[in-house]
Amino acid sequence: MDYAMNKIAVLYDAGQAVLSTFDLDEVLQRILVIAHDYFHLRNVAIMLLDRPSQQLYVRSQIGWDEGQDRIRLPLGHGITGVAAVKKQPVYAPDVTRDERYFCSARTTRSELAIPLMVRDQVVGVLDCQSDRVNHFDNETIDLLTLFSNQASIALQNARLYSLEQQRARQLQAINAIAQQTTAVLDLEELLRTVCELIQGAFHVSHVSLFLRDEQELVLRAHHGNLTPRIPQGGRFPATAEPWASILAGNHTVTESDLAATTSTKFFAESASRMRIPLVSFGQTLGVLALDSAQPDAFRDGDLQSLEAVADICATAIQNAHYVERVKQLAYLDGLTGIFNRRFFELRILEEIERARRYATGMAIIMADIDHFKRLNDEFGHVLGDEVLRQVSSLFHQQVRKIDVVCRYGGEEFAILLPQTSAPHSVNIAEKLRKMVASWQFPGVPRTVTISAGAAAFPDQGTTRDELVKAADNALYAAKQAGRNRVCLGTLASARGASS
Ligand code: GH3
Ligand code: MG
Ligand code: MG
Repeated sequence: MDYAMNKIAVLYDAGQAVLSTFDLDEVLQRILVIAHDYFHLRNVAIMLLDRPSQQLYVRSQIGWDEGQDRIRLPLGHGITGVAAVKKQPVYAPDVTRDERYFCSARTTRSELAIPLMVRDQVVGVLDCQSDRVNHFDNETIDLLTLFSNQASIALQNARLYSLEQQRARQLQAINAIAQQTTAVLDLEELLRTVCELIQGAFHVSHVSLFLRDEQELVLRAHHGNLTPRIPQGGRFPATAEPWASILAGNHTVTESDLAATTSTKFFAESASRMRIPLVSFGQTLGVLALDSAQPDAFRDGDLQSLEAVADICATAIQNAHYVERVKQLAYLDGLTGIFNRRFFELRILEEIERARRYATGMAIIMADIDHFKRLNDEFGHVLGDEVLRQVSSLFHQQVRKIDVVCRYGGEEFAILLPQTSAPHSVNIAEKLRKMVASWQFPGVPRTVTISAGAAAFPDQGTTRDELVKAADNALYAAKQAGRNRVCLGTLASARGASS
């Protein structure tokens, strides 16, 4: 055989194989096919070193016996394991006489193992086996050593390329997150979307968002494959670990091995995690948490991308907060701070629907300040405004959390009472009436009173119009009857009785 020519041809082919594609599997297979054919090998394999376990495993092979390619060889074991430790080729011309030999194919008689080096590190071994004793002469060993360099280059290229791809994917993801989040102004939807996008782009097991609410952190959204140990909406004191240190310094914390710490795990299978503060205009809004089922899953290289994502999230969350606030403002009364009529109109439909569906009942109260015009005239508009504010806040304090107090207009209020019967609504109205009548309004040297009308679903009406009309009529009746009193509405039909 003309070795000089052969050498050039083989190296040329191997070089071409390496350059042909960045798909590592394909490159390795091509290299192995060339080695197998040129050097008449029985079987040939590229084994890689798994660093955590310090074992070699078969990444790519040709000609191995069924199932044998599942072996894992600890460093120092077998011809390949010895080559990896020595960082030089190891040759066993007759494997039957070599104690180091580990059998991977019954008919193998000689074996040559060449370490694959990337810089000065062993990343794997090129393993060549022949059916013939003494198959490899010095020339062949030299050639295969040069050849193994091609495999190393392919490995390194593939590694760099996959890093590059990962970076490109991350950049793409950052773009996608930026684009999608600026369009999403609904906070719940935004948080959900962000978790999904990040999980997809960064290949982590689980992504969760904890947002700050006063002195607590609340799990607002999460997405992934791990088993949560805390419910959505779960709350944690922001002043305690594992949050305090992140929030205090506003810097990212990576925990590479959760098994080794006593830190609270929020997901059962979590083995490592990264937590990034969400900061917008110097304000910490919460924490973006990434959990992985693998220990040591987070690389420094990911940090920049992830922090960029966290910045985008923080801005988007801030925007959504503003939008929620603006939305809320649209439903709030400017003078009193309670809900306005628009909100009442919206909510009464929801409450009627709920009462209908679950047969829970619901009621409304319409209340109006008596002789308010006179009060304005006597004490001035400014004091009148103050009385409106105080009546609003008295109402607000007297009702349950689920009740909705609205300023219906002028000095008239509408109160929505979910799950409330007609007699119960009269009692509540009566309580409010007494409360106002006994209240000492600063600057008003006489009593202020209200009149109220109540109506309940389904006794006084089953639609919005019927209920409002019934309560309004009852309010009118209360005024007619002398003010400072409460009346229950009547159904338009003969069914209901008045107060
Ligand atoms: P009644 O007992 O029949 O309810 O008599 P009233 O004077 O309270 O009722 P009317 O509807 O005749 O007058 C309501 C007054 O409420 C007229 C208006 O000047 C006053 N008003 C409405 N909105 C405001 C407000 O925002 N601030 C102040 N100070 N007064 C208001
Ligand atoms: Mg009035
Ligand atoms: Mg009025």
